[in-house]
Amino acid sequence: MMEDNYFPMKDKNIVYFDNAATTFKPYRVIKKIMDYYNDYNANSHRGDYDISFKVDDEIDNTRNLVKEFINAKYKEEIIFTRNTTNSLNMIVFGYFLNNLNDGDEILLSSSEHASNILPWQILALKKNIKIIFVDSKNEKLEIDDLLSKITNKTKVISVAHITNVSGDKRDIKKICDIAHKKGILVVVDAAQSAPHIKIDVKDLDVDFLAFSAHKMCGPTGVGILYGKYNLLKKMVPFEFGGGMNLTYDENRLKLLDIPYRFEAGTLDLASIIGFSESIKYLNEIGISNIEKKEKELRKYLINELEKIPYIKIYNKDCKGSIVLINIDGILSGDLGLYLNTKGICVRSGKHCAKMGDNKEDTVRISLYFYNTFHEIDYLINVLKNKKEIEEFSK
Ligand SMILES: *Cc1c(COP(=O)(O)O)cnc(C)c1O
Repeated sequence: MMEDNYFPMKDKNIVYFDNAATTFKPYRVIKKIMDYYNDYNANSHRGDYDISFKVDDEIDNTRNLVKEFINAKYKEEIIFTRNTTNSLNMIVFGYFLNNLNDGDEILLSSSEHASNILPWQILALKKNIKIIFVDSKNEKLEIDDLLSKITNKTKVISVAHITNVSGDKRDIKKICDIAHKKGILVVVDAAQSAPHIKIDVKDLDVDFLAFSAHKMCGPTGVGILYGKYNLLKKMVPFEFGGGMNLTYDENRLKLLDIPYRFEAGTLDLASIIGFSESIKYLNEIGISNIEKKEKELRKYLINELEKIPYIKIYNKDCKGSIVLINIDGILSGDLGLYLNTKGICVRSGKHCAKMGDNKEDTVRISLYFYNTFHEIDYLINVLKNKKEIEEFSK
């Protein structure tokens, strides 16, 4: 089994520093997906035969693993979606569309991912609801700034646990504690935290939480929506169709119980099954070891970058595994393309967070635990070719 822990993409002679966009998958995850197609290709809940029972068991197994991974109280609180974006839309249009009233206020930070802004903006258009944006200074959201915007109309706070822009980490436990005392619900976009740090939904006391498998060594096509059981009971399905209803006739629909009523149609079964191996893999390494390794990598990267006088680093104070840089006089898009010519994958631009106060584009280096000091050394050496970079960007 151990030999299945290697990453096929790591043999490709590229240095991959775009882990905030998606991560590589170890072979055991890919193999688990292949096993489904090779050995028990069937739908779930649909058959009365062994290979279909096997699919049901595997899906149930992943649900249990996710439950344990985030320490949810019940496995029914874990809903399979397509991705974080899909989960956040379900929360906004399945829960809040029906539970907010005219004049209510929603608090968001300005450095949220588009997926945690646009659904709320559409909701605000549908209803007479106000969105209050809290600006983050120097890529960091000050929790007191957030709390100072709470009014007696505030009904929900929705923020990323760790942002994909700068890696700013928010004190979700404190936000929940204060919000709940005022009857405010808290939605957490955990797309950048679930892969990197321990998430304990009971301890944080979050009301809703969303993340994607593909950013944590898992397959694409699987998202997780966590919600507290009593809130999910009040949530209305966002999609209707096969697999979510118990019975219906011309004028009555009786829904299946939670979580199945939220999983209409055939899920991405192969990917959900594959995701079980990602969680097992991360558990075997230990999420605290992942956090520790990334801290060391980040510290080393920043240290080495600081030795290059013409490199500007934007987010030294943030805690996540993301470092934002620029070179004076070089467009970040050009720097990204130059690095690509050296086999280095980074992201340049605004990183899906166009509301942010970082008006400048930046080059984002986002790390995962499988990156190496050696890869960082290579990047640093390439960044030292200032003349060549300037020549390239002309
Ligand atoms: C990647 C990301 C998303 C969107 O995830 P998808 O899998 O593309 O839906 C949302 N929020 C943050 C913070 C992200 O990093």
